[in-house]
Amino acid sequence: MARYRDAVCRLCRREGGKLFLKGDRCFKPSCAIEKRGTNPPGQHGANRRRKALAGYGLQLREKQKVKRIYFVLEKQFRNYFEKASRQKGITGENLLFLLERRLDNTVYRAGFSTSRRQARQLVNHGHIEVNGKKVDIPSFQVKVGDVVSVKGKSHSNPHVEGAWQTSAGRGRPNWISTTAGELNVTISALPVRADIDANINEQLIVELYSK
Ligand code: SF4
Repeated sequence: MARYRDAVCRLCRREGGKLFLKGDRCFKPSCAIEKRGTNPPGQHGANRRRKALAGYGLQLREKQKVKRIYFVLEKQFRNYFEKASRQKGITGENLLFLLERRLDNTVYRAGFSTSRRQARQLVNHGHIEVNGKKVDIPSFQVKVGDVVSVKGKSHSNPHVEGAWQTSAGRGRPNWISTTAGELNVTISALPVRADIDANINEQLIVELYSK
């Protein structure tokens, strides 16, 4: 499967704001946005002024931003949109809910990793179980009642331990509940719009794909 291999901080600078793709570093002064500001990436980025966007440009940037936040490539993102538009309710919100219920995102939201990228690696490498069975498909959709846990042998993984300790400070969304002292979470509800980044304008994505 195709993968993005360039430096991820470029993506934040391209979108002009923090997308929180690198875990703990995103909260430190070494964050590229903190150090270099929101100039576009590239040799002459500092000299380029960001153009005020409207219409298609604005819609395109919003779609790219959400794709990058969830680490989803174009074809898969488009498939999520098609699925969301066939569901009842508001298409833009449905799209975000489908992205939010991905297993890799759930692992990140649960606090087993410090970024979605790290969460995807944990899933790909077989460290994650759903209802006691290994699931190594990052796009797996969790449902209400599912128990997502770190496999017994992986409890001592330093990345998982570190992320779990700091995750309480980051907070968890309401649709994920934890049991004190255990490295597992239960999906207690479906995500709602208030659980998802308020800085996303999903309607722009709907307008883009509806042209
Ligand atoms: Fe973005 Fe995080 Fe890199 Fe900062 S450190 S630019 S928030 S990925």
